Amino acid sequence: MSVAAGTPKGSYVGLEKKVVLITGASSGIGAGAAEVFACHGSSLILCGRNAENLQQTADKCIELGLSPDKIVQVVGDVAEKEDLEAYLNKGLEKFGRLDVVVANAGIGVPGNLETLTLEQYEHQQLVNTTSVFSLLKLAMPELKKTRGNVVAVSSIAGLKPIDSMLTYCVSKAGMDQMIRCISLEVAKDGVRVNCINPGAIYTNIFNAMGIFGDGMTYEKANALVSKTHPIGRIGNVYETGKAIAFLASDDASFITGVTLRVDGGAALVLPLPDIPLGNK
Ligand code: NAD
Repeated sequence: MSVAAGTPKGSYVGLEKKVVLITGASSGIGAGAAEVFACHGSSLILCGRNAENLQQTADKCIELGLSPDKIVQVVGDVAEKEDLEAYLNKGLEKFGRLDVVVANAGIGVPGNLETLTLEQYEHQQLVNTTSVFSLLKLAMPELKKTRGNVVAVSSIAGLKPIDSMLTYCVSKAGMDQMIRCISLEVAKDGVRVNCINPGAIYTNIFNAMGIFGDGMTYEKANALVSKTHPIGRIGNVYETGKAIAFLASDDASFITGVTLRVDGGAALVLPLPDIPLGNK
């Protein structure tokens, strides 16, 4: 196994008893996190928009040894309140409890003040941040019953500005502050609320943002990113998955309100040099 490819195997405490809801579980960081939880024997509520891709994540979890009985898949859009209700209700119907919410689903809309429309600006906020507020509003009563926790997937873009990523940076900065505010609100109920702030992780998000046209390869992504990340390479989805699993586990029982960088040191050297964003 190479460091660059990573492995989902780990050993954090208490995860085998937890029911974990993951949004955006059909690809990238969400799918990687699902595999890490699967290796720990967690019960999984896998949520995403694409049933076929969600099935692939479920198959991978089963390959890693998780019983099919410990998986429920729910198709839906985080921008739709009824779909968020379905995520939660179908999970509760199957498992009867909820211990962890991994709020991961997100998109990256490139653009700046001059190029972005208000609709683009608002859609980015809705998908990345407002949906997390709505999901946590629904899920918090269940998390209070289990003294559970939340791990949101923010970004180093929440900590530092990135040129031509205005609405994305605002969405993640908003998420960071939302996590801090909610962590204060629910600490008395025994619920912990944290987020991770990844640097560049090798997923499809770069294709979706148009950075490489439609020709992204690991080598191209790594060559671009390695210059800006002091560790010298792009991250993999098991590195973020393990940070998420740690924060969700009983090993992190005294940690709340944290924004944990998983970025190979990138935020230490931001702002990033010129990156060829599609909509600059
Ligand atoms: P990805 O495109 O592989 O995954 C994004 C997931 O979110 C997909 O499963 C997608 O279907 C889902 N999603 C998007 N819009 C949705 C919607 N409206 N409803 C339901 N699901 C929706 O990319 P990724 O890199 O795995 O991104 C996951 C999260 O990580 C995002 O929040 C992203 O901002 C964050 N992030 C990624 C990186 C990176 O370098 N890859 C860095 C920092 C933060």
